[in-house]
Parts: sequence; C-alpha cells; structure tokens
Amino acid sequence: MASEGGNITWHEHKVSSDARKKLNGHKGAVIWFTGLSGSGKSTIANTVDHKLHEQGVRTYVLDGDNVRFGLNKDKKSLVEKCGYTEEAGQRFGVGFSAEDRMENIRRIGEVSKLFSDAGTITLTAFISPYRIDRDAVRAILQPGEFIEVLVDAKVEICETRDPKGLYKKARAGEIKGFTGIDAPYEAPEKPELVLDSNNKDVNELADEVIAYLKSNGYLSL
Ligand code: ADP
Repeated sequence: MASEGGNITWHEHKVSSDARKKLNGHKGAVIWFTGLSGSGKSTIANTVDHKLHEQGVRTYVLDGDNVRFGLNKDKKSLVEKCGYTEEAGQRFGVGFSAEDRMENIRRIGEVSKLFSDAGTITLTAFISPYRIDRDAVRAILQPGEFIEVLVDAKVEICETRDPKGLYKKARAGEIKGFTGIDAPYEAPEKPELVLDSNNKDVNELADEVIAYLKSNGYLSL
C-alpha cells in the first residue's frame, strides 16, 4: 500500500496481529466509553482494567486527561514545555473547540487501533461528545473491534458528583463550551452496551462490561 500524498509505504510486519493474539490467548478490541464528564467513564474503565488484569488479560486504559498531558497537549504546553514556536503550537496543540475535539478523538482512535492490533483489550475514557467523531473511529477498525459503551448518567447526577469541580466552574462561566452545560452531547444511537450509571454502582457496571466481552467471545480465540 502506498500513500496518496507522499513516498510512504505500508510495511507488513513479520509478527502478524493474529500471532500476537495467539500469544495473548484473547482478541484485541477497543472498548470505547462515552458519556458526560463525571458519568464514571474513567472509574469504570479502570475497574474493568483491574479485574481483567487479575484474570491474566492484556489490557490498557487510555484516559482523556492523561492523553491531553502527552500526545494531545495544548498549544501553551507545546510552546512552554516542548519549545514549539507559537505557529507550530497553534497547528499541533489540541484544545476543546469542536474541531480540536475532533482531532483529539482522531488521534486517540488511531492509537487505540495500534493497541488493539497488538492484541490488547484497550479501554478508552473520553467524553467524545460528537457522534461523527466516534463513528469515524469505528470506521477505521475491523467489524466487531469497536465496542461503544454509553455510560449513561443524567447531567444533574454528574453535577452532584463533580469529581474535578468542573461543573461548578462551567456554571460560573469560568469554562466555556462544557459538554452538557453549554456544549452538546450526542448519545450513540446504537451502542453495543449501555451502562446505567444513574442507578448502579461501579463494580456492577464493570461486571456488565466483562460479561459482554465473555459472551461475545473477546476473551478467548
Ligand atoms: P468521567 O471519567 O466520566 O469524567 P470519573 O470516573 O472521573 O468520570 O468520575 C466519576 C465520579 O463518580 C467518581 O468519583 C466515581 O467514584 C463516581 N462514580 C462513577 N460511577 C459511579 C456510579 N455508577 N455510581 C456512583 N458513583 C459513581
């Protein structure tokens, strides 16, 4: 495969994706948690990660905030910490506009594809409010490789949890374009799984995810 834009060629690796999965004894997949801030995406993803790890499953969590500290730094951090020019920082830094959120999710999607190809059960915890951005990630993965999980919690409940104090700031007008307050959240139309985070606890919801993986054959070959 050659690229359309430049002289780059796709290399077939000697160790195939199937060989990696065979070594692991299970499939690779991307479990894509989506939902409002404070709905429980990170907590549930981490609980699933922990439970599966204890069962000998190779897993990894890509978490919204953590990725923004690294791969998807904002302009200011690129300029101040990485020595980028203002112009380069502007081009490559990622913020929270709709366009920036799209790029954030595109990069995460590509990273999660690599992890999954390496045979890892990859858990991602991003608000990912736009349907079109999530569908674009689904489209770059194989059928069945993308498991979209809606972490369903009412905004009033998320606001009472407010683990990072973000709703308070958004209500005070200190954060603009906050999902669920003054920016939209587009729930998935056909998620593989819906977790009722209004009424059930984290442990129960994590078990629902693991039950889905088991009954759909992800944890074996
Ligand atoms: P998100 O990643 O969606 O922003 P977090 O997982 O960071 O959400 O935070 C959610 C907060 O609410 C945490 O403090 C967690 O302990 C709590 N929480 C998460 N899910 C539930 C749940 N189903 N029931 C009660 N509390 C929850």
